[in-house]
Amino acid sequence: MPELPEVETTRRGIAPHLAQATITGVAVRQPSLRWPVPPDLAAQLQGQTVRRVARRAKYLLLEFDHGTLLIHLGMSGSLRYLAADTPPGKHDHLDLLLGGHLLRYRDPRRFGAVLWHVGPIERHPLLCKLGPEPLGEGFSGETLYAAGRSRGSAVKLLLMDNHVVVGVGNIYANESLFYAGIAPTRAANSLSRAECERLAETIRQVLDHAIAAGGSTLRDFTDSEGKPGYFQQSYMVYDRQEEPCRQCGSPIRHIRQGQRSSYYCPLCQPC
Ligand SMILES: [Zn+2]
Repeated sequence: MPELPEVETTRRGIAPHLAQATITGVAVRQPSLRWPVPPDLAAQLQGQTVRRVARRAKYLLLEFDHGTLLIHLGMSGSLRYLAADTPPGKHDHLDLLLGGHLLRYRDPRRFGAVLWHVGPIERHPLLCKLGPEPLGEGFSGETLYAAGRSRGSAVKLLLMDNHVVVGVGNIYANESLFYAGIAPTRAANSLSRAECERLAETIRQVLDHAIAAGGSTLRDFTDSEGKPGYFQQSYMVYDRQEEPCRQCGSPIRHIRQGQRSSYYCPLCQPC
């Protein structure tokens, strides 16, 4: 599943091609995504110029003068910038034509979305209740400390709560807790201010590092055969059940929390 670093890498990959580009056509081959693609999308976009490619949480935002196109990659979506005569594959559901090129949306599982919104985008129902960006100025240790005060639930669930902070995701929540030396099962309200500061800092570092690693995949956004956007990294705990901790050698433990997998080192992340 594309996580925030993959979505940000996608944004950086397509933005130079899209900014100030004019839409010359829209081809919708499959409108049934998580929500239906608006039937009047072609009429909305034809002849309009993309002003900016932004991101909020895991939503890519193509900003026009008269509205915003929201794109969510869902579980398996990707975007590529290709020559206009590139034949579509089975799962290539939508193209934005840009003269001699196109932006192609592929989504085998169709859990993603392409939606049109007029007016301030921060008021869109999918965005209006979201917490701060983890890499933005609105997020700090104090964010976690304040949110944790009222919660006896596990800190891992706090990190995964989009009302507290967006886009940390399961992989990066596990990795950040390892680097911060905090067990995922710790009650959120048991964390000290100093621990919250350390955790907020590791979240930033882990995400920054993943985005930097994704930079090397940018060429894939213009490669019709490439596997765009998703990148495998070497993790400290994620998906390493029973493998030795890279720091102390103890077997990594696996538990379920909120229907998601948690991985941690019992020695490096004491309860
Ligand atoms: Zn360890």
